[in-house]
Amino acid sequence: MDGCADLEIPGVVFAGLRDAHVHLGLVDAHALFAGGLAVVHDLGSPPSVLEPFADAAVRVGLPEVSFAGQFLTAPGGYPTDRSWAAAGSVCVVDGPQEAASAVDAQIRAGASFVKVMLNSVAGPVFVDATLDALVGAAHAVGLPVVAHAEGQGQAARAFESGVDRLAHTPWTERLPDELLAAMASSMRWISTLDIHGRGSEFDVATDNLRRFRAGGGVVTYGTDQGNGPQPVGLNPRELDALLDAGLDRAAVLESITIPWPSGTSTRLAWTPGTPPADERHWAAWLASTRNLDPGQIKEQFG
Ligand SMILES: [Zn+2]
Repeated sequence: MDGCADLEIPGVVFAGLRDAHVHLGLVDAHALFAGGLAVVHDLGSPPSVLEPFADAAVRVGLPEVSFAGQFLTAPGGYPTDRSWAAAGSVCVVDGPQEAASAVDAQIRAGASFVKVMLNSVAGPVFVDATLDALVGAAHAVGLPVVAHAEGQGQAARAFESGVDRLAHTPWTERLPDELLAAMASSMRWISTLDIHGRGSEFDVATDNLRRFRAGGGVVTYGTDQGNGPQPVGLNPRELDALLDAGLDRAAVLESITIPWPSGTSTRLAWTPGTPPADERHWAAWLASTRNLDPGQIKEQFG
């Protein structure tokens, strides 16, 4: 671009930032973009909400969206009885014979991955045969599977069935080291530590995440935006929690920045000022990142 070499941008320019767990039926996509997110992954919303995002066109003022489509759950399973689960946002899968059509419905709606619900605290969960059939059907067409694992043994079941990502760091039980080491070789965890506030569940999750990371596990920044009160956009408390769980600053940046320039997006983000030395201030500083419109750089900084 002519004249770019003469521009001085006061601050740090990053690849665009991503939240890998949001619900666009419960939080405004424009507000997420205004809050600094270039890319979001929707992990459960009704088709009516997702339809406008089903093609990959880049839209001014909106994050790029990839989505799971509907929550896939067992009959009577979570979140069928939840008031926040909008009509059409849940797809009940009653046995392995229904797995392929359930996955196919998400693909036809434009899904990039599917989400299976394994919440034994809130209701019935899939039997192994159904879970295996769902994972198999998704993998057969190249789609990763994300699981909500909650309750005794559910994270282990997700791993054993071949689930690729956990929507949340496991928080309902302390997972054994051997299981974490095995998970670290094939799974990616989405952090969502801040949804627990600070207390015993937060502590269990942080301990699991620390040991998963120590075994080489990949952690992706995600907040579950739309679930409970939290800052819309980048959440400094989530960034703080990742630092507390043992990620250094480079690892936190790796967890939140999109691959660039080789990935799907060439979006850029800009954080004003100099990175503070103190970790607490660093998280707040990073959370002040905003999207940088390449077409407006000269106007903004020239
Ligand atoms: Zn969620």
